[in-house]
Amino acid sequence: MREYDVLVVGGGNAGCAAAIAAARTGASVLLAERYGFLGGTATASMVGPWMTFHSGEERIVGGIAQEIVERLVVLGGSPGHLHDASDYVPTITPFDPEIHKALLFDMMRESGVALLLHAWFLDASVAEGRVASSRFATVGGMRTIQARRTIDATADAYVAASAGVPTQQGDARGRVQPASLMFRLSHVDLNLLSHYVRQRPEQMRSSLKTHERTADALTAVAGLYELWDAARARGAVAVPRELVSFFATPYADEVTVNMTRVVDVDPLDPDDLTRAEVEARAQVMQLFAFFRSDVPGFANARIAATATQIGVRESRRILGEYTLTADDVLHARTFDDAVARSAYPIDIHNPSGSGTTTHRLPAGASYEIPYRCLVPVGVDDLLVAGRCISTTHEALASTRLTPTVMTLGQAAGTAAALSAAAGVSPRALDPDQLRARLIRDGVDLRRSAVARA
Ligand SMILES: Cc1cc2nc3c(=O)[nH]c(=O)nc-3n(C[C@H](O)[C@H](O)[C@H](O)COP(=O)(O)OP(=O)(O)OC[C@H]3O[C@@H](n4cnc5c(N)ncnc54)[C@H](O)[C@@H]3O)c2cc1C
Repeated sequence: MREYDVLVVGGGNAGCAAAIAAARTGASVLLAERYGFLGGTATASMVGPWMTFHSGEERIVGGIAQEIVERLVVLGGSPGHLHDASDYVPTITPFDPEIHKALLFDMMRESGVALLLHAWFLDASVAEGRVASSRFATVGGMRTIQARRTIDATADAYVAASAGVPTQQGDARGRVQPASLMFRLSHVDLNLLSHYVRQRPEQMRSSLKTHERTADALTAVAGLYELWDAARARGAVAVPRELVSFFATPYADEVTVNMTRVVDVDPLDPDDLTRAEVEARAQVMQLFAFFRSDVPGFANARIAATATQIGVRESRRILGEYTLTADDVLHARTFDDAVARSAYPIDIHNPSGSGTTTHRLPAGASYEIPYRCLVPVGVDDLLVAGRCISTTHEALASTRLTPTVMTLGQAAGTAAALSAAAGVSPRALDPDQLRARLIRDGVDLRRSAVARA
């Protein structure tokens, strides 16, 4: 049995930001992760680019998230924030998952976070209404960790569910967004593709002017409808996707492809998850053949990498002291206990087939996420960060994006450390004290919203 001020379960971007923030706020911290590296969906599932640090021209995400981007730039692992050529969001932030993995280890060492890797959270023990300890399966058998505060950053709400926090999953019918296995193609000549789209601007979803479509400006490609529809019509690809979709990486001759789609998957059902991995990998091979034979500039493409694990957009969400709704997002609500801001639209990939729906905030607006979404009902000394905070299915389709989960992680870690030091329950922590610390640490909590809840 080992004891820490703060235990963070799950080393994705939310968990990493939580661990760094808690340690920088003075807590002794253990970060436990089931894989042998950190970064979660961003590395294990190779999901990128990150979207988006901006609302219009204004940067609305700072803190540890922005620090990570700046450090990646120095390491050659990111070009920083780029204009989104597909016009979906103001900026996208490509990154190299391998360099991100290395950077996260560096940041843990610098901030004094202890790591326990290859440790699979099994269950939590609850005593007197609080999470007292957590049990992990490790390469050396079971290990139990005691902590004064525990942060569930597993994205699947494993700790919260085990502790008895009520959870929900999916839409009104329990259906979640589809899962996608990401892959990167290298040896790509984007000049050839740029020439092709300059001749056929109607084949791109974006409204970019033709002269802007240089190879460098092709940071995101969404469309190529003719090529895609023809391949589907002749039976070359059986992927329920409505368009071709890929993004720039830090490297001129490489792209990351977000096109596989496995529908009707419950990511917490082991048989479903197994089916999803197998089906998605078959889709990767179909798509690889399609790119090489049909898409200008891809004739010599190679599969540079496929993700270790299929990307899960949605699973379990906790019930917290506040549940963020679509209305809050679309009306750009602000909150007195706000700990994060986002301007990302509600972006729902059809859980059962082709198509994606997008609902946008007013131009230039952003909404806020209250601290209460991180505080589960019914159980004390537990906070939740990242994908599994308290939202509706629709609101999650906006809050799940990486810059946001990093900011939520920083908020949870800071709150855990402050509440442990003060000897108050996270539920009773003064939100003004938390917000003051977050603002001091670079989190951008300035108000730009159009309505106030
Ligand atoms: C296909 C797809 C496309 C997306 N596209 C974009 C995009 O273009 N831009 C963008 O910004 N965002 C995108 N997202 C969303 C974003 O990537 C994720 O929502 C976000 O990274 C989730 O971060 P997290 O830290 O909450 O969870 P994760 O990154 O999933 O981290 C959870 C961590 O917990 C660990 N863990 C889980 N269970 C256990 C356990 N029992 N024991 C120990 N460890 C455990 C995991 O291994 C993982 O490291 C996309 C997501 C998907 C799946």
